[in-house]
Amino acid sequence: MSSDSSNKEFDISIVGGGMVGAAIALALSQAGLQVALIEKQAPPEFMPDSAPDLRVSSINLASEAWLTQLGGWPALERMRLCPYQRLQAFEQLHSIVSFNAADIKRSHLGHIVENNLLQLALWQQFGANLTLFCPSSVTALEQSAESAMLTLDSGEQLSSKLVVAADGGNSQLRRLAGIGTNGWQYSQACLVALVNTPYPQQDVTWQQFTPTGPKAFLPLCGQQGSVVWYEEASRVKQLAALTPAQLTQQLIKAFPVQLGEVEVVASSWFPLARMDANRYYAGRVVLAGDAAHTINPLAGQGVNLGFADAKLLTELIIDARRHNSDIGSAQLLQRYQRKRKPANLLMMSAMDGFYQVFGHDIAPLRTLRQLALNVAARSTLLKKLVARYAVGSE
Ligand SMILES: Cc1cc2nc3c(=O)[nH]c(=O)nc-3n(C[C@H](O)[C@H](O)[C@H](O)COP(=O)(O)OP(=O)(O)OC[C@H]3O[C@@H](n4cnc5c(N)ncnc54)[C@H](O)[C@@H]3O)c2cc1C
Repeated sequence: MSSDSSNKEFDISIVGGGMVGAAIALALSQAGLQVALIEKQAPPEFMPDSAPDLRVSSINLASEAWLTQLGGWPALERMRLCPYQRLQAFEQLHSIVSFNAADIKRSHLGHIVENNLLQLALWQQFGANLTLFCPSSVTALEQSAESAMLTLDSGEQLSSKLVVAADGGNSQLRRLAGIGTNGWQYSQACLVALVNTPYPQQDVTWQQFTPTGPKAFLPLCGQQGSVVWYEEASRVKQLAALTPAQLTQQLIKAFPVQLGEVEVVASSWFPLARMDANRYYAGRVVLAGDAAHTINPLAGQGVNLGFADAKLLTELIIDARRHNSDIGSAQLLQRYQRKRKPANLLMMSAMDGFYQVFGHDIAPLRTLRQLALNVAARSTLLKKLVARYAVGSE
């Protein structure tokens, strides 16, 4: 890997080296393509004693399998991650619906990982064929029929057959490529708190549905966890302004007793938005991950969808290169869009339905919610189906 390049011609340029962009860069460079990766900010180094990143994601088995293939997962395992075997949903503690890995003969349903550690684990695998431009950002994009040209803030110009925009929900490249979006901001926002818990290592992630919005717990390594509290945005902002000690009191009051006597270490809040790009490519620019879609994080699917985009896109590109075809052709990009856009939209709409039924305190919805949880509690088949969906199998 070099940090600069005199040769400004690449097969592919990728803007954004977050979890999704880094995975794409790795897959393509490992396959022998010449890759430029442009990222504003490198992930911090790992310190075993450092507090976990506040941004954590639940990674399903499908994503884990692909990241293992890329070599990123074993590197993450050498740092920090937390498997979970059980997933619980409930309104009242006496009616918990539990989905177990054992029901589908798996050792775990997924892992809770820190976003910046997963990003770092992928960066640690960068090697031959990859030129990293970091810290760096793009100032202009020009396209011709044969190539796309990026101008960086350093003044360097990079020409390539294809540009991948993996620069997140507020993608600058998407705008430069002239791709519009559809979507809205939800009235709720979520508060995320890193907490110390009184319990030894936990193996369960749970979500309680309450009249004002869901409350969730995600286990982290050792006696730590991540708490997610969905509420009206104004209330979330008030909570986020509290000191850790004050927020601790609020959490203990508002969350179910199984949270225990936690202690807040740090917290932050996130607005919730749904965004769907009108199309996934324009000319020789293609979108992947949050640059193409952002989804309500209620069921922890966002980056898993991003990895599914990344896997398909890289497979199509590697296949085209093997057949000496144009890796940025409209045909290839159309195939990518045709497969991924409907799949991502389906998941977004399912999450919206879920949000409507489980996020509001309207009487008929309350009844429907209770009914759904009761049916799920009694149906072994349904529980297996939910567990399969959670791990990311078709
Ligand atoms: C509260 C919350 C909880 C979530 N929980 C889950 C979960 O449990 N499971 C799950 O799957 N998903 C979850 N998500 C969603 C998940 O975080 C995102 O889907 C994921 O981060 C998207 O990854 P990405 O690489 O596409 O984009 P990003 O993570 O946004 O990365 C984009 C990268 O591009 C860089 N960049 C941006 N602009 C430029 C530029 N102009 N030039 C150069 N570089 C640039 C940024 O520095 C960054 O590194 C959650 C989201 C939220 C808000």
